[in-house]
Amino acid sequence: MFEYAPAPESRDIVDIRPSYGLFINGEWVEPQGEERHKTVNPATEEVLAEVAWAGEADVDRAVQAAAKAFPVWSAMPGAERAKYLFRIARIIQERARELAVLETLDNGKPIRESRDVDLPLVAAHFFYYAGWADKLAYAGFGPDPRPLGVAGQVIPWNFPLLMLAWKIAPALACGNTVVLKPAETTPLTALAFADICRQADLPPGVVNIVTGAGGTGAALVNHPGVDKVAFTGSTEVGRLIARSLAGTRKKLTLELGGKAANIVFDDAPLDQAVEGIVNGIFFNQGHVCCAGSRLLVQESIAADLLEALKRRLGTLRLGDPLDKNTDIGAINSAEQLAKIRELSEAGEAEGAERWSPACPIPDRGYWFPPTLFTGVAQSHRIAREEIFGPVLSVLTFRTPAEAVEKANNTPYGLSAGVWTEKASLMLWMASRLRAGVVWSNTFNRFDPASPFGGFKESGYGREGGRHGLEGYLAL
Ligand code: NAP
Ligand code: MG
Repeated sequence: MFEYAPAPESRDIVDIRPSYGLFINGEWVEPQGEERHKTVNPATEEVLAEVAWAGEADVDRAVQAAAKAFPVWSAMPGAERAKYLFRIARIIQERARELAVLETLDNGKPIRESRDVDLPLVAAHFFYYAGWADKLAYAGFGPDPRPLGVAGQVIPWNFPLLMLAWKIAPALACGNTVVLKPAETTPLTALAFADICRQADLPPGVVNIVTGAGGTGAALVNHPGVDKVAFTGSTEVGRLIARSLAGTRKKLTLELGGKAANIVFDDAPLDQAVEGIVNGIFFNQGHVCCAGSRLLVQESIAADLLEALKRRLGTLRLGDPLDKNTDIGAINSAEQLAKIRELSEAGEAEGAERWSPACPIPDRGYWFPPTLFTGVAQSHRIAREEIFGPVLSVLTFRTPAEAVEKANNTPYGLSAGVWTEKASLMLWMASRLRAGVVWSNTFNRFDPASPFGGFKESGYGREGGRHGLEGYLAL
């Protein structure tokens, strides 16, 4: 293996303020309470900034600002709203390097991913929904679809800016106004986005950003002035929200957890499948709701595939997320690291065999080596529960029917991958897999024109594509 010289991306391009207020009605305002919290770089544990903690009164203020902006924004011709969205998309492209570095600092993901995956997709989402803003009458939701009002949106920490884009772009295109709460551990790109809204001259109150923890999210989704709730996060919190919104007039979409199967048949091109497996579970440290966390491999090729996979894992580089050669960055928080460790220990205790390549771990920060488990039974916790980390559980199957049975044996249903050269087998599988997305000879591929969402406990509603408009329109 070659030794690579360090190739760190410079962080000078980002300008992080020591402290941030809330973004309400187009301005930075101080929260009413004294409480603030620190956001850290998970690769170094260095404090990056102090962030306001919005309480109920602050959330109320933000919702009121959004409600006040709604009549003007929703009455604006779609072509005019589109101009703002196009402008935002172009500013994101112009500031892409800065936003990628900021995302990597706050989240821990490799710069290669924030630069080449997150940021291009963020801009693409705004471009895509800008294109819909003046064509809503042709989207298949009636001749004159109306927006809902104020959207309360709560997002997780794994793709902070991308989840913001998935939420804000369709909401604004349809004529809604927004109050968004980013995750506690990754608020900085959402706060940078607030600046982008100002730079784009977006009318005040159309987008409001309130930072805080779970309590802030709860205050937002339960606020009586909110007409639509969009949540991405854990199934546990999704359940809580569904329960508290039941019987209200609020429209709800939920994007929750997953435990996807990546299924490899004996006729699949092995090297390509190995790349797809690696991308499926080690992309973004496995902090991916649709991660291919269960590898189902046909028994006849299991030994060969595992050998090739282990060889490939030995070449992954873990370390400084700002280094352009890094494949595996830091785990987002100490809390998430503890959860990954706990489940991995349960995997060993239940009798599965654990393997990781030799992989030096930095002294500071939160890290977990790429890990795979063989000898996994369907009853093991590591085969059933979402680990949300760089941990792959390997199971085998003999027939396509058995693969379908095992793949569907989960309370989740967000995604699946199938690797085979036979198109007939591919289609046979795709029609039987209970998953919102089925990838064919690829994995973790996203496009703003393609709907994304779950079956069963992975949630309901779709984001992306024409389908993604539906959650923001009164039908
Ligand atoms: P989480 O705990 O559910 O948090 C998600 C967001 O909800 C955060 O902003 C969180 O605030 C907030 N929150 C917590 N309690 C709340 C409450 N009672 N009411 C309202 N909001 C509340 O999830 P996580 O552990 O941070 O994120 C990982 C999970 O997200 C995984 O299960 C993953 O599968 C899922 N996910 C799904 C998708 C998808 O598209 N389906 C995409 C990405 C992630 P804090 O910041 O304080 O926690
Ligand atoms: Mg959380």
